[in-house]
Amino acid sequence: MPQRFGKQAMIVGVDQPIEVWEREFPAPEPGGVLLRMQMGGVCGTDVHLWRGHASLPLPVVLGHEGIGLVEELGEGVTTDHAGLPLSAGDRVYWGPIRPCHHCYYCTIAKDFSLCENLVLFSGADEPTWNTYTDYAWLPSGMCFYKIPDDTPSEPVIAFGCAMPTMIQAFERLGGLAPNQTVVVQGCGPVGLAATFLSHLSGAKKVITIGAPDHRLAMARRLGAQATINFETLSDDKDRIAQVYALTDGRGADVVIEAAGAYSAFAEGVKLAAPNGRYVIVGLWSGHGEIPIDPRYINNRNLSIIGSALTQPQHYYEAIRVAQAHHADFPMAEAITHRFAIEESQQALEAVERQETIKALIVPA
Ligand SMILES: [Zn+2]
Ligand SMILES: [Zn+2]
Repeated sequence: MPQRFGKQAMIVGVDQPIEVWEREFPAPEPGGVLLRMQMGGVCGTDVHLWRGHASLPLPVVLGHEGIGLVEELGEGVTTDHAGLPLSAGDRVYWGPIRPCHHCYYCTIAKDFSLCENLVLFSGADEPTWNTYTDYAWLPSGMCFYKIPDDTPSEPVIAFGCAMPTMIQAFERLGGLAPNQTVVVQGCGPVGLAATFLSHLSGAKKVITIGAPDHRLAMARRLGAQATINFETLSDDKDRIAQVYALTDGRGADVVIEAAGAYSAFAEGVKLAAPNGRYVIVGLWSGHGEIPIDPRYINNRNLSIIGSALTQPQHYYEAIRVAQAHHADFPMAEAITHRFAIEESQQALEAVERQETIKALIVPA
């Protein structure tokens, strides 16, 4: 059995310097796969974990978005989880949430995003599927999908977990009619994925609100007809008036919260047209309370929809979005920064300062 040693970047404590540890990566277990990492995505969630905004036993290996090359298949593995034949060197993308397959939500409700025993990070002393590493060790039961040869890796990872997250949100939203208008609150990877999917879904007009300007420029290249800079138009009343001016005075048929700031919620309710739908995606780790007048929701027949995490099939569908559209849209250009594993802390700091659209960790 070949011995494989590699590096992995660790959060050892809240706000503590990121450390790089060397470890041996064991052979895959039956049903699992060992991957040599090609690239990992740096996600805003990684910054939240480092800054202590979500409670998590530390230390943990960083990263939950990645593409790896098959190094070794576990016993019994001959295909990916969509049935495509798999062999050494093939690129795979995977859903990093390990459901238990035993609880009510896994087996009866069939909604893995609500699994009561869901694991996103395993212990730092075990091999893990985290992605700021040289190798990722995917256990049995974790769904992974082959990236077809005609699809480059970059457009698949360019939005990271935001693309599968938004694909699920569109399912929960129930789709768009072609004459509908959409407002997206936020223009980080989640907001850009929302903008792009709204455009691909045939929205009549997509309006993206956010900052800074280089992200709004990407939103326009991905299908936004109008953008509103949150920093220059800093009063919510002005932003609301602008959206009404762009939507025949009615507001948007669909509002998508991808801002990750709870203050966005009160504004989002007011951006929705009568009979409008408002889907909340970005507040997974944002906390807070904000006054809302419920009569406004009642009298305008608004629907408010939550959408948490993702399910494995949304990673498969994210690959298909990249396969179908990478040639016609600058998906890969959302990747603005690349860092080595040893530069993981600089990567987190760059994301925190919003210098990036998408940053990657690329092993040497
Ligand atoms: Zn479960
Ligand atoms: Zn992510």
